[in-house]
Amino acid sequence: MKNYRKELWFNTPNRMDLIHITPDVDACVRESGIKDGFCLVNAMHITASVFINDNESGLHHDYREWLEKLAPHAPIDQYRHNNTGEDNGDAHLKRQIMGRSVMVAITDGMLDFGPWERIFYGEFDGRRKKRVLVKIIGE
Ligand code: ZN
Repeated sequence: MKNYRKELWFNTPNRMDLIHITPDVDACVRESGIKDGFCLVNAMHITASVFINDNESGLHHDYREWLEKLAPHAPIDQYRHNNTGEDNGDAHLKRQIMGRSVMVAITDGMLDFGPWERIFYGEFDGRRKKRVLVKIIGE
C-alpha cells in the first residue's frame, strides 16, 4: 500500500470565503500515483471546513447568507466563547455545520465523484495562514 500526505495553505482576503479546491486535490491524486484507494481532505483548523457540493455561485451566495443568519459575526458579545478575548465565536459554529472533512474514493487514478460533486474549503475566520490536509492511501 502506498501513502501520500500534503498540506494546502490558504490566506484568504476576507473573514469568510469559500474556495474551490478540486483542482488542488486532483493534482495531489496525480502526484501520489495511487490508482485505487481513498482520499481524505480535512481542515486543520477549528474555524474552517472542507465540504463537497455544487460549484455554483448562487449556491455559494446562499451558503454565506444562511450561515450569517444562523451565526451572525456581530455583535461579538453574543458569544460566550468571545469572553476569551477572541472574536471568532461565530466561525466555530459555522465550521461545525459545514463539517471538518470529506473522504472521496479514488478509482482508475481519479476522484470518483457523484454528479456535480466538487470539493470546497470554507473559511470562517480568515485573513491569516491556515491549512488543509490531503491524505491518500491505496495502491
Ligand atoms: Zn475561537
